[in-house]
Amino acid sequence: MTALSDVTFYPFWLDDGQAPDSCPNLIGPAETDLLIVGGGFTGLWAAIIAKQRDPQRDVMVIEAGKVAHGASGRPGGIVSTSVIHGLGNAKRVFPGDMDVLERLGVENLDAWRDTIEGYGIDADLEWGGEMTVAVDPAHLPDLKEEYALHQQHGHDAVMLDRAATQAQVASPLFEGAIWSRQRTGTVQPAKLAWGLKAIALTLGVRIHEHTPMLSVTDLGAQLRITTHDGRIDARRVLFATNAWGAGHKNIKRYVVAMRDRVLATEPLTPEQMDRIGWSNRQGIYDTRTQLNYMRLTRDNRIVYGGRIGYYFNDATDPAGDRQPQVYERLAGYFAQTFPQLGDVKFSHAWSGPIDLTTRMAVHLQPYYGGKGIYAGGYSGFGVTGSRFGARLGLEALDRTGSPDLDLALASTLPGSIPREPFRWLGAALTMHALNEVDTKGGWRKAWLNLVHRLGFPL
Ligand SMILES: Cc1cc2nc3c(=O)[nH]c(=O)nc-3n(C[C@H](O)[C@H](O)[C@H](O)COP(=O)(O)OP(=O)(O)OC[C@H]3O[C@@H](n4cnc5c(N)ncnc54)[C@H](O)[C@@H]3O)c2cc1C
Repeated sequence: MTALSDVTFYPFWLDDGQAPDSCPNLIGPAETDLLIVGGGFTGLWAAIIAKQRDPQRDVMVIEAGKVAHGASGRPGGIVSTSVIHGLGNAKRVFPGDMDVLERLGVENLDAWRDTIEGYGIDADLEWGGEMTVAVDPAHLPDLKEEYALHQQHGHDAVMLDRAATQAQVASPLFEGAIWSRQRTGTVQPAKLAWGLKAIALTLGVRIHEHTPMLSVTDLGAQLRITTHDGRIDARRVLFATNAWGAGHKNIKRYVVAMRDRVLATEPLTPEQMDRIGWSNRQGIYDTRTQLNYMRLTRDNRIVYGGRIGYYFNDATDPAGDRQPQVYERLAGYFAQTFPQLGDVKFSHAWSGPIDLTTRMAVHLQPYYGGKGIYAGGYSGFGVTGSRFGARLGLEALDRTGSPDLDLALASTLPGSIPREPFRWLGAALTMHALNEVDTKGGWRKAWLNLVHRLGFPL
């Protein structure tokens, strides 16, 4: 009997009796002013914002499966303010735009929260903050540098030494931490997506689930989207298709579909909770080379994730990720992090698609003379940033002239990524190196440094 022996290979967040019924699939021809392809956070936010701006506008969403069955129903659900994967990444990719990206992040987070609370969506929001914990004393200097960035940008953050970190969350690995305490926390992501779907429907958005887009034809004034059982002629189309990169064959030139694995435990008893503390219930990232993240759920499970993988040809639903052995290493990291929870078993294991780019942040790809735009590339950091990506995508489609479109983030492309079979080969080497670099070093470190120089900050 192991901790993984009774696990269900399905996202814990989606395994919920409150999941809404699907909207009917589209059958036959239709027309709309704005079509959004993809029913995750990006697509749902785009539909809501478009209707908030112009209630008369006809807006339609089509989703290949069910709303939230992509990344949006599968994340750790750690809420961050950044729209660019954190301050360190902002400094790496757009150092000259840090102030404006920080401001946009705050505005985005506040609007995100106002909408959720204004419509009374119950998505288990908790505002305990976000903590980055060093799992090795050698990582403390990097943590201090990141803390300095938090201070320079006026964040409500504190640096914790080992004892103070242990007082927050007890783990023999935690050597120190930054605790960022404002506009950060955790959310139940599937409940959020279902709530956004309900808002969109209330605003008059037409949603069709089980309606995969199969092809796009440029008719001149409109795009014709052919689906399994119908077709839609639309003046503007937002491709909110994340790691699927659906909408144009070139999208995947800039986006790789990685898998990120997650485990959820059974609910902890009060006595088991006492063993770890965690009374402030922060969302936590650690500094392991292949980072792990963890948070508590409303019923006191620990959701623990972060072992990425890649399957040939950007597979977005690999059967390989429904096998216990894929999660064993992750379960091992959990045991090292919380050895005092050796009697706790895992209830759910799942993986989800990550739209990795060299910038690790959202970007826009215009196609068909600007009538269609892909908005994505959050690289595993889009629970709140997807609202920002949705807004930017709409601004670009509607040619609003917003100054935000002049930012390099919105007006330029990330680095291009080799196609198969080089993509798979590079990923396989990188995954192998990532799995062993912390214990074995050697060529793995040199390879990861090379990958880093190519633009992926591993
Ligand atoms: C395991 C994991 C952990 C994560 N943890 C965090 C976290 O803690 N914090 C954080 O900020 N971010 C996190 N993220 C990232 C975050 O979840 C995503 O950035 C965000 O959900 C992206 O939303 P989206 O709408 O762009 O993509 P998705 O939710 O993937 O939506 C895209 C949708 O497009 C649909 N689609 C694709 N092709 C077609 C087609 N041809 N026709 C119709 N529909 C189509 C798909 O079915 C899918 O539903 C995590 C992601 C994963 C996978």
